[in-house]
Amino acid sequence: MPKKSKFASILQEKCPRCRQGQMFISSKYDLRNFDKMHTQCTHCGLNFELEPGFYTGAMYVSYAFSVAIFVIVGFSLFIFLNDPEIYVYVLTILLTLVALFPILFRYSRVIYLHLFGGVNYKPDQIKSQNKI
Ligand SMILES: [Zn+2]
Repeated sequence: MPKKSKFASILQEKCPRCRQGQMFISSKYDLRNFDKMHTQCTHCGLNFELEPGFYTGAMYVSYAFSVAIFVIVGFSLFIFLNDPEIYVYVLTILLTLVALFPILFRYSRVIYLHLFGGVNYKPDQIKSQNKI
């Protein structure tokens, strides 16, 4: 099996250790269950909750996404609508953030686990090899 890059596995919401198992149970477009994660990787058995409250740190990633969206949408409105009223800025940015919430939520967790989880890539790891 060809090696998958870290960037590709983040985009596809894959496990950071094997880069094959899905982190989330359902699609990001399933609005009722978009936040449901597997407790363990279905391929290698990695426990996705590395410690209690691990994903609290994903708020910082989410905050960075939100600031980036704020800046991009704000500058876009300024340039393309020629500096509209303030309520246009507020409503457009809020609606954009609400519309993108499921995607931001999931990628915040995926990026946090991949970059700050301290999990090394082991492409040959499978579930039965875990020593517990
Ligand atoms: Zn895995």
